[in-house]
Amino acid sequence: MSDVHTPRRERLLAQASDRAVDALLVTRLVNVRYLTGFTGSNGALLLLPGAAVLATDGRYATQASEQASDFDLLVDRDLMSSLIRRASEARVQRLGFEDYDVTVARHALMSQRADGIALVPIGQAVEALRAVKDESELGLLAAACGIGDVAFAAVLADVRPGRTEREIAHALEDHMRRLGADGPSFETIVASGPNSAIPHHTPTDRTVEQGDFVKCDFGALLDGYHSDMTRTVVVGSAAEWQREMYAVVAAAQQAGRDAVRPGISCRDVDARARAIVDSSDFSGRFVHPLGHGVGLEIHEQPTLIATATDTLAERMPVTIEPGIYLPGRGGVRIEDTVVVRPDGAEVLTATTRELLEL
Ligand code: ZN
Ligand code: ZN
Repeated sequence: MSDVHTPRRERLLAQASDRAVDALLVTRLVNVRYLTGFTGSNGALLLLPGAAVLATDGRYATQASEQASDFDLLVDRDLMSSLIRRASEARVQRLGFEDYDVTVARHALMSQRADGIALVPIGQAVEALRAVKDESELGLLAAACGIGDVAFAAVLADVRPGRTEREIAHALEDHMRRLGADGPSFETIVASGPNSAIPHHTPTDRTVEQGDFVKCDFGALLDGYHSDMTRTVVVGSAAEWQREMYAVVAAAQQAGRDAVRPGISCRDVDARARAIVDSSDFSGRFVHPLGHGVGLEIHEQPTLIATATDTLAERMPVTIEPGIYLPGRGGVRIEDTVVVRPDGAEVLTATTRELLEL
């Protein structure tokens, strides 16, 4: 199996030399995982020119030596101090660190330990790298999205009058687990009737009624990667207002997908979709960003939002998820996970976007 972690560390180190640091201390656990493959719940990484030191505590020593066998392993309870000591032994002069991950108290301690080493903030440098996925990551995301598609098709039998939101959410999560997911990628949203107007509703014991919108936002977690999809269906036949609302969201979602290509600014993708909603009778009812990156975390860079300053690049997965919400009545969201490809969006979530009347 080809090692996916080495090229990631090389890319990070190449960036680091632009910042004039000669070593990097990575403390955010999800970033340690990204750069090493280590999945324990306590770990930190020191990247030196030509060497990588992974520190963990005694509980994870065996796991670390198996998952990250090409590292110097350092087992200690005080990860940070021991890694800074190692940096000092290696005569590091400027050590980059993830400042946004470090508390003020911890920073004070680091400065004390780092006697003679300059601590240089690197912000979200690893997160920025993570926005562009390699094909192994995209393969896992596609597989996770595939699980979501099959699970959703299976749960539609449970979306009927008398079932509660909570029951439907549990059934959906059970289907995903049975299909091989490690679990749901976030707390499953099932929102029925007036609750569908709440963008991030937590499932309740409300029973589904004839004529309800039922909005399901969910994903499968697979080997650390999160899928994300939303579909909104109608129980029975849709009323005219529901058809209108759904048609506008579907058009906005299509406009968002159509806009996706390398080099477009994230704010423009958001604007293309938003313009459709804002030129309809539902103007102003699309109250959240159009989408977000997804991968080892459910929300990653970039964000498709009016204030964004970044642009899409090849192999970035992003969600496209416009919605319309009418408080007290109901709401619709349609969300796909897509990958930026040279000729546009590759859609990973294959479930139909036609309005389903169950
Ligand atoms: Zn979602
Ligand atoms: Zn999402």
